[in-house]
Amino acid sequence: MNSSTTVLISGAGIAGPSLAYWLRCRGFVPTVVEQAPGLRDSGGAVDFRGVQLEVLKRMGILEAVRASETGMGAEVVIDADGRPLVSLPSEFFSGEVEIERGDLARILYDLTEDTTEYVFGDTITSLTETADGVDVTFRHGAPRTFDLVVGADGMHSVVRRLAFGDESGFRKDMGYCYAGFTAPNHLGLDHSGVIYNVPGRGVLVGSSRDSSRAGVGFIFAAPELTYDRHDQAQQKRIVADAFAEAGWRTGELVDLMQDTEDLYFDTLSQIHMDRWSQGRTVLLGDSAWCAGPGGSGTGLAMIGAYILAGELAAARGDHRVAFARYEEQLRPGAKVGQKQAKGAGPFLAPRTEKKIRRRNRVYKLLSLRLMAGFFSRMASGAANAVPVKDYPETAVLVAA
Ligand SMILES: Cc1cc2nc3c(=O)[nH]c(=O)nc-3n(C[C@H](O)[C@H](O)[C@H](O)COP(=O)(O)OP(=O)(O)OC[C@H]3O[C@@H](n4cnc5c(N)ncnc54)[C@H](O)[C@@H]3O)c2cc1C
Repeated sequence: MNSSTTVLISGAGIAGPSLAYWLRCRGFVPTVVEQAPGLRDSGGAVDFRGVQLEVLKRMGILEAVRASETGMGAEVVIDADGRPLVSLPSEFFSGEVEIERGDLARILYDLTEDTTEYVFGDTITSLTETADGVDVTFRHGAPRTFDLVVGADGMHSVVRRLAFGDESGFRKDMGYCYAGFTAPNHLGLDHSGVIYNVPGRGVLVGSSRDSSRAGVGFIFAAPELTYDRHDQAQQKRIVADAFAEAGWRTGELVDLMQDTEDLYFDTLSQIHMDRWSQGRTVLLGDSAWCAGPGGSGTGLAMIGAYILAGELAAARGDHRVAFARYEEQLRPGAKVGQKQAKGAGPFLAPRTEKKIRRRNRVYKLLSLRLMAGFFSRMASGAANAVPVKDYPETAVLVAA
């Protein structure tokens, strides 16, 4: 392989554009295909901790990310009358730097759009590996051949399905479902959030940088849920049914959801795979190791992009060597992230009144200064499990 090594990346979320940036820096030629008609710049807040900040710095976007920081303050658990029960300091949920997922997606796209070919509104339909590359067909575009293919297309990755098999063989559902959207800030929150629970259900509302808007999250136990991923009206009905008669101001929030067009709806699920590459095809980010909320998915996807491009350059484009080294370095972080995220559902929406009370007692403990530091270190586990190694200058020059 040489300087003109072409890499097709499926997915313009967080992992895809991050990889496009690093591949370009190392002299490869990335193309990103995204099934949505445009950039999906929505989603809840994502945070960075520990060594993950180093990657932002190396990409030259730390300042831009800081400029868009949420600046989120405390989150308060409330009862059905809106009275505070326990207040959690910002480091609990917000890490060292927190930014809206959509703002981050936009920063990454802006960083790469001039140097990367982006194809929106299309998707891969087949991958056929030959001795020299991968022949790819698309739903709309003409067939093309690439040297390498990367699946950075999230939990429901099409690249995974085509190269490794059906999603059901790799997805482990955790028995919960999450729906998130933005709405007018009708609760008047100011850099703060509230959490309200009834058994098996949790409502999270927060407003930060844009005081006119609030991020709303509904999380609920849904062990046997089947639904159509492309039917947003059905998803809204599922949420409305799950939160009917839930008390507090939940009904108003359900009504606001009906007007939203940026609903993010998915099960809390993880992806577990024995290997992340197959010949010239490799997976990155949620498509490979999705952990779910609390699993440092965004930071790990970005570190993964840095390492994958670095290893490809260091191995002088020998994808077998590079993919093996990439996987070896990322696995420990992915494992810790998946372990961390396992508790997210039961913690945010405990299934019984007793469990809600117990969770609140734990929250109270964690809110103590000393314990907050302990929690912060615990939550940084996945973030710090993958060292951001230096790639020698020669590696950068190989493909330049
Ligand atoms: C709109 C949106 C909102 C989100 N909101 C939250 C949230 O509130 N909380 C949270 O914890 N996580 C959220 N996530 C997931 C979070 O972004 C990831 O866990 C994490 O950042 C890792 O990023 P990723 O790039 O691997 O996956 P993602 O950010 O999920 O990006 C995957 C990209 O691939 C695209 N894609 C999917 N299928 C195909 C296909 N067949 N062909 C081409 N492209 C395809 C998707 O449209 C998306 O742009 C959200 C993801 C999206 C897409």
